[in-house]
Amino acid sequence: MDYKEHIAIVEDWPKEGVQFKDITPLMDNGPAFKAAVDEIVEYAKKQDIDIVVGPEARGFIVGCPVSYALEIGFAPVRKEGKLPRETINVDYGLEYGNDVLTIHKDAIKPGQRVLIIDDLLATGGTIEATIDLVEQLGGEVAGCAFLIELTYLDGRSKLDGYDVLTLMQY
Ligand code: IMP
Repeated sequence: MDYKEHIAIVEDWPKEGVQFKDITPLMDNGPAFKAAVDEIVEYAKKQDIDIVVGPEARGFIVGCPVSYALEIGFAPVRKEGKLPRETINVDYGLEYGNDVLTIHKDAIKPGQRVLIIDDLLATGGTIEATIDLVEQLGGEVAGCAFLIELTYLDGRSKLDGYDVLTLMQY
């Protein structure tokens, strides 16, 4: 399946110089979206996953259908102040300044095999922070899956020693 024909490339968004990869046309195409999710489901089976973790917001869109297909749980990772119960937090660097990601303290049980799913791997800051949260809770990161990898930003260098699946590379 050529997924790339369903990705819209938007120049200078959200700011000048950025070439944004928009996955909404892929989501809008039932067979293409299903094929992409199914590939990640097969990967999750191979990695023997117990639970899916996804950072907001597009990690929910890709991660939830995978957990549904496998009848396993999904744990959301959110920006600070969005989760209602006790959380653990991690600071992570953005291009300008810092942000905080959080997960519920009881979201993952020690020893669970976790698949982290997001739409896109860019600099790797988001996945690095998400791995930190999972490991703080005693989860084992058994894989990281993305629809898109921006190879020119080298997020992979932050994923040494982890198993990674990406369906499209730019
Ligand atoms: P990173 O932390 O630099 O790897 O950026 C990855 C995060 O930013 C993911 O959660 C993406 O949803 C978002 N992101 C960055 N660039 C793009 C893009 O071109 N399209 C869609 N999402 C993006």
